[in-house]
Order: sequence, then C-alpha cells, then structure tokens
Amino acid sequence: MKRKYFGTNGIRGEFGKLINPKFLSRMSLAIASSLNNKGTIVLGSDSRLSSPFIKHIITANLIASGIEIIDLGIVPTPLVQFAVTHLKAHLGTVITASHNPPEFNGIKVIDSDGIEISIKKQLKLEENFEKNISNFTKWDKVADVSTMNLIPDYVEQIVSVVDEEKIRKRKLTAVVDGGNSVGGLVTPLVLKRLGIKVISINCQLDGRFPGRGVEPSPEELGKMSNVASYSKADFAIAHDGDADRAIFGDEKGSVFYGDRSIAIFEKWVFGNIQNKKFVTPVSSSNVVIDIAEELGVEIIWTPVGCIYVSRTMIESKSMLGGEENGGLFYAPHQCVRDGAMAAALMANIIAETNRKLSELEKELPKYHQKKEKIKCSDFLKEKVMSYIENNVPKEVEVNTIDGLKLIYPAGWILIRPSGTEPIFRIFVESNTEKDTNEKMKKGITLVNNAVEKYS
Ligand code: MG
Repeated sequence: MKRKYFGTNGIRGEFGKLINPKFLSRMSLAIASSLNNKGTIVLGSDSRLSSPFIKHIITANLIASGIEIIDLGIVPTPLVQFAVTHLKAHLGTVITASHNPPEFNGIKVIDSDGIEISIKKQLKLEENFEKNISNFTKWDKVADVSTMNLIPDYVEQIVSVVDEEKIRKRKLTAVVDGGNSVGGLVTPLVLKRLGIKVISINCQLDGRFPGRGVEPSPEELGKMSNVASYSKADFAIAHDGDADRAIFGDEKGSVFYGDRSIAIFEKWVFGNIQNKKFVTPVSSSNVVIDIAEELGVEIIWTPVGCIYVSRTMIESKSMLGGEENGGLFYAPHQCVRDGAMAAALMANIIAETNRKLSELEKELPKYHQKKEKIKCSDFLKEKVMSYIENNVPKEVEVNTIDGLKLIYPAGWILIRPSGTEPIFRIFVESNTEKDTNEKMKKGITLVNNAVEKYS
C-alpha cells in the first residue's frame, strides 16, 4: 500500500494548503486513537511562524482525546527523540518542515523507542485519518499539558559520550550557523559545555529564515566559511531547520558535502572499535566504501531515508550510520540523526587526532558528484521506472535497494523517483569531472527516453 500523506520523513506541506486546521485536527485524532486515547506525548517545534498555531491545534485535540502532553517548546527534532526515551513517553510529535522553505510546515511522529514511526504505523495512522475517528473524552477527563525544559539533560547526554577532558585541553574554536532555527539554541551550549569558544551566526530564532535560508547546502554557507577562515576557527558547523543534520566546514573556509564528514566519522569510529558495521543509504559516496575497505568495515546499504538507517542500525547493532545530506547517527547517544551530536563528535575527533579538519578531509579519496532532477507526473513514475530497468546497459551491475543504482567499474548513477515531488532524481559520482558529466548525460537520456515514451 502507498502512503498518501507521509513522505520520506514525516508529513510536510504548505501552510494553509495540506497543512490546515482541519487536516491537523483529524491527524491529531488519528494519533490519539493509535494510542487508544491514553498515554503521554512529548511535543516540540522548530522556529517557523506557523508552528505555535499548529501546536495549539494538536495540543487541543490530543488532550481532549485523553492524551497527556509534555510541551518541550522550540527545540531540535533529535531533542524530542531523546525526550521520548528519557521520559518514557508513548510517542513524540515534532512540528517542523525540516529544510523546506518558511511557508511550509509539517509533523514528524516519533515512536516510543525515539525513532520515527515505521511505515506500517504511518499507514495505520493514515487509515485512522481516513476513517475520521474521534474519541473525545468526557469533560472531567480532559488531560493535562505541562511544560519542560529538557535542553540541559540533552546537552549532558551528548557530553557523556565524548571525551570531555581531551576536548577541553585543545581549546578549540567553532563557528555555529544555526540557520535562524533550533540548532542555534542547542549546539552552542553543547560546544561551550566542552570548553570550546563558539562564534554564533544566524543563531537568533526567526521563522522567516533571513540569514541564509534553512537548507544548509554548502553553496549557501559563504558567510560561515568567511567567518571560519577569518577567525581561524578549528571547524564550522551549519544545521538545517530542525537541526537533525550537520554540514561542516574547516579552518580554511572550505565547506564539505555531508558524505565527506560522514567518512571522517566512519574512519575515526571504526578505527577504535571491534563492531565494524556501518549503515548508510545507497546515495552515499564511494568514499565510504574506500574507508570501509581500509578498516575492514561491513557496509549495510539501505534505501534513502533516515528511518531506514535508524531501524537497520538497531537490527544490526551497528555503532554508526551516516547520510550524504549530513545526517550522523551515533548509537552511543541515540540511533537517530542528530546535528548537535555530530558537532561534539567532530570536536572529539579533532582533539584526539590532533589534526586540522582540512587535513582529515584532504586524505580522503576525491570523487566528483552531480545531482539533477527531471519532471515526471506521479502516476507515470512506476511505468517509467520499469522501462528504465529494462533498458539499462547489459554490462552494468544493478542495485535496486532504492530506485536503480547502476554501478560501473568507476562511479555510479542512481535514478530514484522522488517520494514527495513529481520528479525523478539523478545522482552521479565518478573519479573525474569529465566522466561524471558523461555519466550524468547517460542518466538524463535514460530517464528522458522513458518519460517521453509514456507522455
Ligand atoms: Mg531535518
């Protein structure tokens, strides 16, 4: 069965369109009925202008259905995930549209183990939603709302899984670009707690995201890069709107794609432990394979989406997961991607290796990457996909974990129908820029031919 509202990571849409009062009320009632109208839900939101309004609607519907609410305020998604397990709540709900523009909003639903609810549970919620179930409680059974500041506990939990003493000794300096959202509330506190001097930019909350937009693409992080090189900071870090992702820059002002920093984490973590299982989606750079071969690490590939990485980590008892978008999953803290955890771990690596971040990045093998999208109506996607499958070059190795990954002796092409937009995404990686461009041409031709055939 296909999901109607849940996408790769929660429900997202434009405020006033999909995300409207009626929809939110019905979805809240569906959530309440999934808990049989009892239990506790922790609630948090990012800094979007529409978030308080949405929070009131969700809260009103849940307490009127007998669900107790613990309101954590404006906090990162990973903090809500931590809160669910820390407070032994039954569910968590985060009001956020992550990296989408300011007019968007949405909800992420967190299970009692701190991980986003499974696709099976998402489908069940959608089923309840369609049935329009409402079980309002009697007037004297309306549940309570309490507020809680869990930031200090969250900060201490992160500090407890890194080497505080080593980090303190190095007297590091870091630039934190909060993107005008929740990352600016927590990451500076974590780093300061570790004795790091913090230079904050875009750390004032503003739901219009005027600083640099809310998506931390390396191309948008010029200010962070300038401040890092000018101030000779040891590293710089930028978050997305709900601070579950982290993009890093070095002391020279270079900013890396997520899989470069993930490879640095991979190299350090698996250089130190015996359990060598690394979980990553099929879209990750071959650089993670190079590190795995060097250190005898087993890579467990997953479809694209943090929920797959988290759940695979639990099943395989893996210590580390990582995504090309800068999502780091560090099991000693929690098996979900966590931007503030990534900041503390990077400080740990720089302190322990006594190396500059630019040096750590430079010694990784170099690859060239390109991403493109091609328009395709949702109803054509399945046909287009099977046409492409039947027309891939014979000599190429094919991986179908998510979409179609064509693996060549050097480099690969990944073709995926987007789960949230009427487009196909094409990711390409190879050893040289020339070959990357050629492979991208091949990928575009394959998709275009298929789309034209059915249009
Ligand atoms: Mg996010």
